[in-house]
Amino acid sequence: MKRNILLNPGPATTTDSVKLAQVVPDICPREEEFVTIMKQIKEDLVRIVHGALQTYTAVLFCGSGTICMDVCINSLLPENKKILIINNGAYSARAAEICEYYGLPHINLCFPENQPPNLEQIEKILQENSDIALVYATHNETGTGILNPIRNIGALAHQYNAVFIVDTTSTYAMLPIHMEDDNIDFCMASAQKGLMAMTGLSFVIGKIDEIQKSASYPKRSYYCNLYMQYDYFEKTGQMHFTPPVQTVYATHQAIAEYFQEGEHEKWLRHKRVFDAIQNGLEQLGFRSVIKPEWQAGLVACVKYPSNTNWNFEKIHDYCYERGFTIYPGKISNQDTFRLCALGAIDTKDIEEFMKVLRDALIENHISIPVLY
Ligand SMILES: *Cc1c(COP(=O)(O)O)cnc(C)c1O
Repeated sequence: MKRNILLNPGPATTTDSVKLAQVVPDICPREEEFVTIMKQIKEDLVRIVHGALQTYTAVLFCGSGTICMDVCINSLLPENKKILIINNGAYSARAAEICEYYGLPHINLCFPENQPPNLEQIEKILQENSDIALVYATHNETGTGILNPIRNIGALAHQYNAVFIVDTTSTYAMLPIHMEDDNIDFCMASAQKGLMAMTGLSFVIGKIDEIQKSASYPKRSYYCNLYMQYDYFEKTGQMHFTPPVQTVYATHQAIAEYFQEGEHEKWLRHKRVFDAIQNGLEQLGFRSVIKPEWQAGLVACVKYPSNTNWNFEKIHDYCYERGFTIYPGKISNQDTFRLCALGAIDTKDIEEFMKVLRDALIENHISIPVLY
């Protein structure tokens, strides 16, 4: 099979064994055989973030990663309470938008997109608003690659008796996460990112007692209610509605490969891929938007150079034709593109890519190093 190197922020490059795991005899997902696989996946998803199975569970949904943001926000807010959104990027802004769509009382606490949030300001808001029941933050703001200090934000949330939700979609199964130590009550991800499986399966991992409490909270969605999905699975071992069957098989294989590679080894691989990306970019003269010490080490966010021949689409097309996918940026006030260290790739792939990128610049009459 042709191997494409995806440097976009998910879906990621997958192994052939994960691709092929989807090709299975047709099966009805209500069968015991499938139920067994689902149970194993559910438990492994909790193990990946070091959660104790008597305290935490995973709730699976059929959809892309955003479904988990939607589910957590609409399901976990008690009546007459507020949610605090820590917003320093496009993905947190999406969470605020979800609150608006559901008409939920929320505080959209905005910080500049190119830096981590200010903890003192967060604490001040928590002090002034005793009706905040939920605090929501994004771990790695995938638009910029900033790693937010979730452990500290979580500690503040707990100090003020709020439940802490973290969008870990772009760190889960890449950067080591520990539910308890990182003060996380709920986190989330999608099979096609860190797990390097296929699109269509997403999951929320969270505290069982908080999910049970939410049974009495207002129901704001039918398909996307956390308690309903949890309760149905507990009773039957099945998802409430049709699961993405083939994606589940791929995820099962991807999880096996995750444990085979090992948490630490996998993180080291992503780190060296990221370093190779940064070094390659530097050699061509490209500049990053985010200070190195603030980066998660998974997304390089690169400023467009000022060369008059620079045209992102043309560079993209040149690379794409040669098997490498690059991706536009997601910062509101600056033109950027992104290269991500997700997926089943290693430094050799980045070396190959950098040759192609160099050729793309030459082909487009852009001087090396590029200009700013
Ligand atoms: C990818 C991602 C999502 C989900 O995006 P989808 O397009 O719905 O898969 C959510 N949050 C973060 C931080 C992400 O990186």
